Amino acid sequence: MATRTPLIAGNWKLHKDCAESVAFAHELKSAIGADTDVDVMVAPTFTALYPVCEALKGSPIAVAAQDMFWETKGAWTGEISAEMIRSCGCTHVIIGHSERRQYFGETDETVNAKLKSALEAGLVPVVCIGETDEERKQGKTFEVLDTQVKMGLKGLSAEELASVVLAYEPVWAIGTGNTATPDMVQEVHAFLRKSVADSLQKELANAMRILYGGSVKSGNIAELMALEDVDGALVGGASLDTESFSGIVRYKR
Ligand code: PEP
Repeated sequence: MATRTPLIAGNWKLHKDCAESVAFAHELKSAIGADTDVDVMVAPTFTALYPVCEALKGSPIAVAAQDMFWETKGAWTGEISAEMIRSCGCTHVIIGHSERRQYFGETDETVNAKLKSALEAGLVPVVCIGETDEERKQGKTFEVLDTQVKMGLKGLSAEELASVVLAYEPVWAIGTGNTATPDMVQEVHAFLRKSVADSLQKELANAMRILYGGSVKSGNIAELMALEDVDGALVGGASLDTESFSGIVRYKR
């Protein structure tokens, strides 16, 4: 049985300008300290990536971009490559967040192209998947997730996928305060691990970290982390405040 180090990740979305992001990074650095039982990651906006990476140097907190483009260079006005993100000091990148899928035309095909490019640049991709409220009510949850996993990870070998983190984020639970019940979360995470095992490799599935995201707070993190197939959390709203995010990071204490 593989040991999976939990990952607690904060997605700052469209919050905090450069100065606010840097000040917050300093606060988190001292609140979280030098030793953590878990891996920790934060995802500021693009414009704050470099100064936040500088501010967090020497701390265990990794920095991610919230999105990326799959091409490496060229006439793609407004886009940012994986290598550019890496050159800021980032080690991780979020790909396929439901807000990108919902509002910016992200598809499983673009997720797949971004994933390949992120891996080539040596970034750890956090690939988001999740069903909408309507899909769940229509009984399509597992079908939707299976397609997102198979299409999103398509064409990559088990070796290439070894660093990939999956984040299950039911769309209806994001920013709504409606956390999925522990039974729902465990059922989906076990399904995802089996889907990866069946389509790729059992060892990879056992080693792959699968995060839960959707209204995670310091008050519900412990019961989520107690679930067998939950290996961490992707946190939106509750990652924007030092006390609440460090409370989530220290869920064991
Ligand atoms: C997210 O945006 O990935 C998220 C899970 O948001 P929240 O924690 O606010 O629901």
